[in-house]
Amino acid sequence: MNVYDSHRMAMMLQDMGYVKTDLQQDADLVLFNTCHIREKAAEKLFSDLGRALMIKNERAENGLQTVIGVAGCVVQAEDEQIFKRAPFVDFAFGPLTYHRLPQILKDIEAEKQSCVLDTNFPAESKFDFLPQNKAEGGCSFLAIQEGCNNFCSYCVVPYTRGVEYSRPVEDVLAEAKRLISTGTKEINLLGQNVNSYHGEDARGVERNLAYLLNKMAELDGLKRLRYTTSYPADVDDDLILCHKNLDILMPYLHLPVQSGSDRILKLMNRRHTAETYLEVIGKLKDANPNLRFSSDFIVGFPSETDEDFAATLDIVDKVGYIQAFSFKYSKRPGTPAADMEGQIPEKVKKERLDILQTKLFDLQTKFNQASVGKTFDVLFESSGRHKGQLTGRTPYMQNVYADASNNDLGQILKVKILSATTNSLEGKVANNG
Ligand code: SAH
Ligand code: SF4
Repeated sequence: MNVYDSHRMAMMLQDMGYVKTDLQQDADLVLFNTCHIREKAAEKLFSDLGRALMIKNERAENGLQTVIGVAGCVVQAEDEQIFKRAPFVDFAFGPLTYHRLPQILKDIEAEKQSCVLDTNFPAESKFDFLPQNKAEGGCSFLAIQEGCNNFCSYCVVPYTRGVEYSRPVEDVLAEAKRLISTGTKEINLLGQNVNSYHGEDARGVERNLAYLLNKMAELDGLKRLRYTTSYPADVDDDLILCHKNLDILMPYLHLPVQSGSDRILKLMNRRHTAETYLEVIGKLKDANPNLRFSSDFIVGFPSETDEDFAATLDIVDKVGYIQAFSFKYSKRPGTPAADMEGQIPEKVKKERLDILQTKLFDLQTKFNQASVGKTFDVLFESSGRHKGQLTGRTPYMQNVYADASNNDLGQILKVKILSATTNSLEGKVANNG
């Protein structure tokens, strides 16, 4: 979601005449887009800001001005504390108000204002005010939803991104068409819980995610479709049917379970148990036997015992994830879990994370190794590790490196896989287009 938001901000800045630079020393404007999901992500901002200040001071010695801004969820959570901890920041705004970026910058340039802070939960939707989106390559994110109503007890998202809002169907389709016309072949529909999507159609009727996926599948020129993130309890039969009927829907689904222990899932305020989760997985696999899964995991949630943790390892074995993200529980101020009894010592969290990740990486490696000798459609996204090489993704989101020309960027080519590691595959383009 932050990648999508950053892309939209970069587009707005481009429309204002800004150009991107890879050298921070050259930047007249430095804008940090921030994540507050775990403590480490938030702390990183303040060390990055310290470095930005040093560069700002160096530039000032050469008579150059530097504007520093901070966007995103850290701002929403910290509010004016941002300026207390980093008084040299010129402006800051939360994730729901970045459509106001051009006006904020104009006011700062006109020296009408400094230290602008905007952490409203505005009545208007930012999406109605953003300029049209443009593709940056063959794959694009498209936000169909903002916020979340689930209030998982560990999570800050409902507090930083507010209540859930679904964009109207026509708006999503219009943005998709624009992305396709500017070079996109794959669209990943984004939201914190896309399964509860309920955007209105042109007649004002609320439609679900399955309806939207069917509409997306009709778009000319779109080759691949994905959606992220799914909330297991909200996967309905209509959605499951999409995995049977829509060829364009990729056979890879991120379906976060978080824990395999029902006691912990209850404390997390997740609305699924290990059993109901596995039922959903079973139905999805019946709909499309080629479907493979990834997940998010939290280890060391308050009061988690060795037995609870063993249940998490058990569900990993049962599902056989091909990729996963796993985290140590991180206390987020203001969330119910932060005040729960039985906070787990850091050392135990680390031990459990190591055990879980060893298992997950092992599964990932095995899946990648089983790909050797097979031929996949690969959508090439960017330059590879050496000259004459590109990198792209298989339908299963595996990273593939292969020799190809720059003309192949944004194209889908057949690639035969020659070797595999935990994180990537190497292959050979099997045809020339
Ligand atoms: N809406 C998505 C993603 C939420 S944030 C979902 O429900 O899956 C991405 C992941 O960060 C979560 O799935 C969770 O695994 C992790 N996460 C969220 N809050 C956390 C916390 N306080 N400590 C550790 N990990 C956390
Ligand atoms: Fe956070 Fe839960 Fe919402 Fe995901 S579903 S954003 S984990 S509250």
